[in-house]
Amino acid sequence: MSDRGGVSGRELHALVEELYPICRSLTGDGVRATLAAIGRRLPLEVHEVPSGTRVLDWTVPDEWNVRDAWIADPSGTRVVDFRETNLHLVGYSVPVRERLSLAELRARLHTLPDRPDLIPYRTSYYEKSWGFCLSENRLRTLTEGDYEVCVDSTLAPGALTYGEAVLPGETADEILISAHVCHPSLGNDNLSGIAVATWLGRALADTAARRSHTVRILFAPGTIGAITWLSRNRDRVGRIRHGLTLTNLGDGNPLTYKRTLGGDARIDRAASHVLAQRGLPFRVIDYTPDGYDERQYNSPGFRLPVGSLMRARPGELPEYHTSGDDPSLVSPERLAESLDVCREIVDLLDGDRTYRNLAPEGEPQLGRRGLYRAIGGTAVDGLELAMLWVLTLSDGSCSLLDVSERAGLPFAAVRTAAEALLAHGLLSLVPEQKA
Ligand code: ZN
Repeated sequence: MSDRGGVSGRELHALVEELYPICRSLTGDGVRATLAAIGRRLPLEVHEVPSGTRVLDWTVPDEWNVRDAWIADPSGTRVVDFRETNLHLVGYSVPVRERLSLAELRARLHTLPDRPDLIPYRTSYYEKSWGFCLSENRLRTLTEGDYEVCVDSTLAPGALTYGEAVLPGETADEILISAHVCHPSLGNDNLSGIAVATWLGRALADTAARRSHTVRILFAPGTIGAITWLSRNRDRVGRIRHGLTLTNLGDGNPLTYKRTLGGDARIDRAASHVLAQRGLPFRVIDYTPDGYDERQYNSPGFRLPVGSLMRARPGELPEYHTSGDDPSLVSPERLAESLDVCREIVDLLDGDRTYRNLAPEGEPQLGRRGLYRAIGGTAVDGLELAMLWVLTLSDGSCSLLDVSERAGLPFAAVRTAAEALLAHGLLSLVPEQKA
């Protein structure tokens, strides 16, 4: 288990467990409670955007809140109860109090016949409806007769809530980290991303003084939340140099990086390099216009270089969007490893620099400067090799990431080598040319 920066996977997992019971949706008090819990770890600026506000091609919907929801069988026994798990109620169900026959009720019920013990996760955000989700096994126990149904919800003008932590660096150039916060009791698909993003923010808040980039960590409901943020921050999006959406970071699949639309952004190279250097199984996949909020950031009007870090791809796990995606699917060790990778990616993006070798004719005499082994005939060690690579490639056109890729060395080793050479006057910094 990682304890980098004193963080253990157990702390991340504790946040997953704390947030798990909360009924989140696109809007409502569940999102507010979630942002409040995150805010106790990472101070957030919370924004409330009124229902009816036009955001890009969308409109902020009415706010949805649930007090209670249940189905009672002919004997009055509650056979489906929102208080057992919020997955029982279709998200955004309108208020209902009715008596129905079993046949009428069945039209309102969602099950997974091929996974009869799991409850599906369903929503009806933009079409006013109501329904319940239950296991196929539970459905099979329902007998003929009249059922009483109660959805004690409100769907009324209110607000959409999102939160962000802006961790200032020395420049206004931004790294955007985005996690969706709209899924109810689902562990891997959204809570794992929330936990990793929260602790990434905590770690970066501690190192702000040494960071060039400003880091913005955004917690917003999926799709409409990212669209709302983009709509309200048009003047800021040009500052976003790199970005990542985070979710599905606690399951047993290998770490998986989904490229930006362009596929050759700095974030694409940084993430691929960090994953490759770990020496563990990983996947890099091409952009597709599904998945999470990378869809909004990569859209033609924005084209932000935002990739996505995950383990399981959406729909890859049989537990995806079901009651099987509970905190037991999320392991503390994998959360910690995911956090480590995120930190390394941010460190790389922030630390990448281009230098010029100031003694470019032949090889500078490193031994004279105390930078090279004093005794000939021994093998070149890792730092020496990294220094030689930096000197070889630093003609003003290669960044440290270019060097790391060409040399097949960890970025941190290459950066350490460059810092040593810089301290001995052998390199000069080439100002970054902004695209
Ligand atoms: Zn999802």
